[in-house]
Amino acid sequence: MIDHHDLVTYRAVCAQNQAGPFDFTAQGDDARGRDAVLSTMQDVPLTVTRILTHGVRVHGRSQIITWTGEAEPRRRSFAEAGERAVRLANALRDELGVRENDRVATLMWNNAEHVEAYFAVPSMGAVLHTLNLRLPAEQLVWIVNHAADRVVVVDASLIPLLAPLLPKLPTVEHVVVSGPGDRTPLEGTGARVHAYEELIDGRPTTYDWPELDERRAAAMCYTSGTTGDPKGVVYSHRSIYLHSMQVNMTESMGLTDQDLSLVVVPQFHVNAWGLPHATFMSGINMLMPDRFLQPGPLAEMIERERPTHAAAVPTIWQGLLAELTARPRDVSSLVQVTIGGAACPPSLMESFDRLGMRVCHAWGMTETSPLGTVARPPAHAVGTDEEFGYRLTQGRFAAGVEARLTGPGGERLPWDGTSAGELEVRGPWIAGAYYNGPDAEPFRPDDKFSADGWLKTGDVGTISPEGFLTLTDRAKDVIKSGGEWISSVELENALMSHPDVAEAAVIAVPDDKWGERPLATVVLREGAAADYAALRAFLEEECGIARWQLPERWTIVEAVPKTSVGKFDKKVLRRWYADGGLDVTRL
Ligand code: ADP
Repeated sequence: MIDHHDLVTYRAVCAQNQAGPFDFTAQGDDARGRDAVLSTMQDVPLTVTRILTHGVRVHGRSQIITWTGEAEPRRRSFAEAGERAVRLANALRDELGVRENDRVATLMWNNAEHVEAYFAVPSMGAVLHTLNLRLPAEQLVWIVNHAADRVVVVDASLIPLLAPLLPKLPTVEHVVVSGPGDRTPLEGTGARVHAYEELIDGRPTTYDWPELDERRAAAMCYTSGTTGDPKGVVYSHRSIYLHSMQVNMTESMGLTDQDLSLVVVPQFHVNAWGLPHATFMSGINMLMPDRFLQPGPLAEMIERERPTHAAAVPTIWQGLLAELTARPRDVSSLVQVTIGGAACPPSLMESFDRLGMRVCHAWGMTETSPLGTVARPPAHAVGTDEEFGYRLTQGRFAAGVEARLTGPGGERLPWDGTSAGELEVRGPWIAGAYYNGPDAEPFRPDDKFSADGWLKTGDVGTISPEGFLTLTDRAKDVIKSGGEWISSVELENALMSHPDVAEAAVIAVPDDKWGERPLATVVLREGAAADYAALRAFLEEECGIARWQLPERWTIVEAVPKTSVGKFDKKVLRRWYADGGLDVTRL
């Protein structure tokens, strides 16, 4: 045992002997005192740089395959991509003058170059800002200006999207164009234009990466602004590192270098759910669809490249399923499919099961990096009748993600599988505030953060005693009918299990008697006729929906409108309804 004096001396000696990361003095005030035991472990910052160097050294042969729509995809090893990331960092610093903390934006599809930017920018101490290419132009302008991006790396195919915006983006000094394409629309916009390949060509293949504090900003992503202005979430090196380890857990996606993951979820949508970082940690090969996201090309790339895993939101899978039904292909390689971003309808899961693809449901959001839960059934349920029920939940919380449910009056609700409340979470990869612009303190709106700092997710659901989350709705989508709540998701899932229904979205509409009632908007399968009474009877008789929850208002739409990340856009449906744009039948 050492006394206080010894402790001070010991610290001083340690400090003197310190070579690099051995900072024993940084153990905090609570490590002082008579009986203190100092941790003897190295204090190595958890940085994106370390993920990059690990991926290159240890998994250098793993591949990033980028679909080109031509006979051959582009194949690049992690070692090559890593070296190109180093050359890109050199070019950004030496040619473009990018300094630490500068925001370097990407307006790109999923491809190898985008992965290179993912590693080059944070490793040099700058901040990668992924732009959602499906956002309306005015939101993109708002976001780029709010983040004060200095550089935009853009895929040539997206020049027509970027060029008209540039005059409204005063902070953007440089545009780096990746891939072949007409660059003339960028001329005269005030920004200096560079070609990616020419820019990195001949640059040094080493970079003296700065030793960054792990808590520093590495990347940022804005929420899609479904309500109010978009809000910026800034990931730290540490949060990315820890989240990537979590993605790699067997309990989570559990992939290895024997896997090829088809990364359909866009890199601009919460870092493609962390996959590009996670893959460099464990050598998982990536198949990047670039701009070929339609069901036909997706089916073709699965057949030709034989990925073992894929990740995307449910609407992508709905489309792929229809394609596979119409034109069967050999998709037998694909055994695991991660679905998240919106509730996975049970009917979709069953259809994929029949194809031999096992859907694994996951929940998360921009503010949670995103992975918060993954629905792997517990051992005792595997192989039993209970298994499917577990797979339909949003899943079990990852170690590191703490959760609680809050009732309407702010009361804590038990994890009993029945008490429904708003989900609140905290943990090392959960946002604690939003970005407020350069040099400004982050802000914490009351509706998004509790007084004690937990993130209010806006999702309503239950948690079972075993820690499985079941979401019943988003707080803003739930239908409040006569003081009771009706889950729009439950009605949608039930409707989508009907053979005539391709898609269904249910929204709350004002009702004189009940306050709100559900309106069912239905997309019929080809050749099916609208029979609302039959659908209503199906909900009651086959799906067990309580009579008072059954919609009396029905309408047919050609397609459910989708958000920029492919989810049902109920805001648009509500507007259509309010404007009288829907032909509603009342039963
Ligand atoms: P946006 O708010 O633009 O949709 P996010 O991508 O951050 O942005 O969406 C997060 C939200 O998506 C969650 O709060 C939740 O409502 C929904 N979500 C994500 N995964 C699931 C899931 N597996 N089941 C149901 N809802 C989900």
